[in-house]
Amino acid sequence: TSFGYKQVPEEEKSKLVGNVFTSVASTYDLMNDLMSVGLHRLWKDRLISKLNPFPGMKHLDVAGGTGDVAFRVMERINSMNHRTMQAALADIEETKIYVCDINPNMLNVGKKRASERGYKEGHCLSWIEGDAEALSFEDGSMDGYTIAFGIRNVTHIEKALSEAYRVLKRGGRFLCLELSHVDVPLFKEIYDVYSFSVIPAMGELVAGDRQSYQYLVESIRRFPNQEKFGQMIQEAGFERVQYENLVGGVVAIHSGLKL
Ligand code: SAM
Repeated sequence: TSFGYKQVPEEEKSKLVGNVFTSVASTYDLMNDLMSVGLHRLWKDRLISKLNPFPGMKHLDVAGGTGDVAFRVMERINSMNHRTMQAALADIEETKIYVCDINPNMLNVGKKRASERGYKEGHCLSWIEGDAEALSFEDGSMDGYTIAFGIRNVTHIEKALSEAYRVLKRGGRFLCLELSHVDVPLFKEIYDVYSFSVIPAMGELVAGDRQSYQYLVESIRRFPNQEKFGQMIQEAGFERVQYENLVGGVVAIHSGLKL
């Protein structure tokens, strides 16, 4: 492609991604906690702060898997309920959070967690099996779009970005949380050892699957750096594109507006 980051053949990439998430769905949450030493929770909280959810919003969380981001959006909106006036109550009923993921196993874990949390299927939360590259939502239908640790796995990133742009309303916000590139001397060396040695070993030990976690680490290296990815977001049509590095660039949150 014009961005020169893709090395794995397309069919192989789709197959690998499918295998990775089918094989890890059950141990997924535990591995997330272990690999990020619990930090992924704070990173997701930061993503939601930037989204600034509001009662009545229509939100789409793509690659939403086990519902981590969607639950946070709901919780943020519900917590406003206690602070605001009666009018917001009516809006809360209108809130719609769609979780879209290509893998039904991940969605099933999310649905189970939703019912454990007392969310009724189809009320405010909807679970939709679908591809980030070809969304089944109408043009201009969403106030917000999030994708957390998902875009790196998509075969044609530029297609996913243009789909994000298409489904957002004017004024809608795009937010992407993704593992990114560390550019801090010394910390970079430590992080390299951690990701190339510790993570695959942890994958083998905890999930019984070294290869999937090896793939994870390699896919982080192949993903475009913060500047380049920001440029791709701009090329999809977004304006006011910015990014924030967390933990020296271990992860980055990119944002953009459809104006
Ligand atoms: N967003 C969740 C989180 O932060 O915990 C899940 C992230 S998980 C690392 C990546 C998810 O992306 C998986 O659930 C996988 O099934 C999904 N995925 C991969 N390729 C996709 C695609 N083309 N369209 C939609 N989802 C995809």
